[in-house]
Amino acid sequence: MADVVIIGCGAVGAATAMELSRYKLELVILERENDVAVGTTKANSAILHAGYDPRPGTLMARLNVRGSELCRAYCHALDVPYRGCGSMVLAFSEEERETLRELLDRGVKNGVPGLELLTGDQARAREPELADTVQAALWAPTAAIVSPWEMCLAFAETAVKNGAQLRLNACVTGIERRGEGYTVHTAQGDVEARYVVNAAGVDSGAVHDMAAPHSFDITPSRGEYYLLDKAEGARVNTVIFQCPTKLGKGVLVSPTVHGNLIVGPNAEPSEPHDEATTAGGLAFVKERALLSVPGIDFSKSIRNFAGVRANTGRDDFLIGCPAPGFLDLAGICSPGLTSAPAIGEYAVELLAREGLALEKKEHFDFSRRRVRFKELSPEAREELVRRDPAYGRVICRCETVTEGEILACLRTPIPPVSVDGVKRRVNAGMGRCQGGFCAPRVVEILSRELHLSPGEIVKDRAGMKMLARETKGGEADV
Ligand SMILES: Cc1cc2nc3c(=O)[nH]c(=O)nc-3n(C[C@H](O)[C@H](O)[C@H](O)COP(=O)(O)OP(=O)(O)OC[C@H]3O[C@@H](n4cnc5c(N)ncnc54)[C@H](O)[C@@H]3O)c2cc1C
Repeated sequence: MADVVIIGCGAVGAATAMELSRYKLELVILERENDVAVGTTKANSAILHAGYDPRPGTLMARLNVRGSELCRAYCHALDVPYRGCGSMVLAFSEEERETLRELLDRGVKNGVPGLELLTGDQARAREPELADTVQAALWAPTAAIVSPWEMCLAFAETAVKNGAQLRLNACVTGIERRGEGYTVHTAQGDVEARYVVNAAGVDSGAVHDMAAPHSFDITPSRGEYYLLDKAEGARVNTVIFQCPTKLGKGVLVSPTVHGNLIVGPNAEPSEPHDEATTAGGLAFVKERALLSVPGIDFSKSIRNFAGVRANTGRDDFLIGCPAPGFLDLAGICSPGLTSAPAIGEYAVELLAREGLALEKKEHFDFSRRRVRFKELSPEAREELVRRDPAYGRVICRCETVTEGEILACLRTPIPPVSVDGVKRRVNAGMGRCQGGFCAPRVVEILSRELHLSPGEIVKDRAGMKMLARETKGGEADV
């Protein structure tokens, strides 16, 4: 019997698993998909929010500010791309200037360090591309940008390296109370556990209902984005927000840790898994973003995508135990990515209050390094290629990703099984051509290394085959 079963391996489930893996516990993580970080964690604004937005006194306020500190420390320790670039919220009217004063007041109450109100000219002195119509801004130096999927992967890998068992393709279909614990039914058979943690994102309402009386609804809200080429990546240096509304934090313009520019999101009611983009949604995003930064060249767009928020209509996360030994980490909408490590810490505290015995391990492996060939000096590259010629074969030309890096990620604690899984780990396919050049080569490498035919290689989720058909000679039509 496992001590704790965690349902869902997005940022929240992974962070919780990592925190629990510091203790002598049998941990099992059950994830429905074929990889970690494939829910909302892979499709969001990638901002580590400073923490002035949540209402003071809420869990969300506390976990956001603590999470922002922990993310900085953990990204550094686990080699996750992170940039402490700060953020600005813009005001275009006297009414919005009042909103900035409210946000400043909230931020001070929430314990956010370094907040400062700027005039329009002071804001433009920092960000010359801001519109002339900007009257004032709230500067938050502790805001940052991150690679969200790599942060989640790093947390999950750390949990696995420290003994947690990750079961992929293990959709939870039912939960039954048995004696002092639970039987969790999954697509791969039953798992017995003393404690169960619900970290199922937009499905956290459905998982809650498997173990406890219905008490909340998730009302999914979709946000759509433009991702622009690196030619636009330096358009701004900080995260540029507009004033938040009831619908969310508004349309932002931000650099990404990979050197691109991200613009979005809108907020539209949606189905839980509807990640489609729409002409109307994108037109709205574009129109709003140009109010903040009029010079954005949208002809440099290389991709559109959408993510789905796990909203509940309340202005706080739903964290607590609705049944003995069953912990909900539910309704984790924005700033859930930022808060994830703090939610993990808090989850451990709540499970201990439920009676989980915690004994620290003598050794906790909290290290992670990955080779990024394109960031190496010419001498280091030469030495690496001499030791392993696979680093001399460039697979993704846009991002300069080598075969050596792809082979290395296949030897990590959570190896990829899809073309997008490789992309999330080493950036192959993230550049201007969006995999037009490297995808067939990644298919070949995965096919060879996983001993599968090219026709069996998937783009992302199970069933999303990359190839329409294979020819009789075994060659693939891509
Ligand atoms: C448009 C948008 C912008 C955002 N921007 C930001 C931002 O800039 N900064 C920020 O801090 N936050 C942001 N957020 C919020 C943040 O992305 C989420 O709060 C966070 O990713 C939630 O993580 P999670 O682990 O709870 O959910 P998820 O990442 O969705 O993970 C849940 C996992 O549970 C699995 N699962 C579901 N049901 C089952 C089942 N029955 N059995 C097994 N597994 C199951 C799913 O497959 C999934 O992998 C944004 C969200 C959106 C949508």
